[in-house]
Amino acid sequence: MRIPVFLVVNDDGVDTEGIRLLAAAAAQLGEVYVAAPSRQSSAMSQRITIYEPLTVRRVPFPPSAVCAWSVDGTPADCVKAALHELMPVWPDFLLSGVNFGYNTGFDIAYSGTVGAAMEGLMNGVPSMAFSSSHEGDLALAECALPSLLERLLNREVERKAIWNVNFPGVRPEECRGILWNRRIAPMQLYLDAFSVEEREDGSLSMKNQGLPIDLKRVPENSDVHAVLSGYISVSKIYCPVLQG
Ligand code: MN
Repeated sequence: MRIPVFLVVNDDGVDTEGIRLLAAAAAQLGEVYVAAPSRQSSAMSQRITIYEPLTVRRVPFPPSAVCAWSVDGTPADCVKAALHELMPVWPDFLLSGVNFGYNTGFDIAYSGTVGAAMEGLMNGVPSMAFSSSHEGDLALAECALPSLLERLLNREVERKAIWNVNFPGVRPEECRGILWNRRIAPMQLYLDAFSVEEREDGSLSMKNQGLPIDLKRVPENSDVHAVLSGYISVSKIYCPVLQG
């Protein structure tokens, strides 16, 4: 059988540890192409660039990628450029991440990591998004990814949904396991809370600090509950424009 071809993307930028270890895990299973933003491009959802041309550069990405491109655009731009121009072959799977910070609950709506996976899905490519806690390191993701990836590739998902995986912020030996088919919690992981200062010119400086939520108020079978309880959470996210 032909080995699978992967397109690996992210929203945190091509030079981040998260995309390196996702590409490395994929390279154990197949051929890897990388297309990622040239700079930090989080919370862009599925935004695309329409008024300016994109600048695309080949970048070294040893040892896992056959070829890697840095794109000065959004995560969805990277997917479009890779699929329709840059890649010499059509990928079997798109992998997005590993994001710095959870993509659970309402945060999914803002996520460039998920936006890139949705762009893949809308182009007919089976797609998956991976995220990790912004606290702690990526040791758990690194150690769990190879076997989890193999399981996900063999699990059929409807052509109108992506897999969304979140790694809790714990050491590999502290992880309590994988919880499948978690529901998306109807809530934010952090509550909106602005710190406000008035500037000399009369304008306000407002920064959303985000207050942690109380675990007792989180639905038990949800993605948020799983990661906050030390489990790897796997959910399906349905693409709004593919739901007939
Ligand atoms: Mn990000």
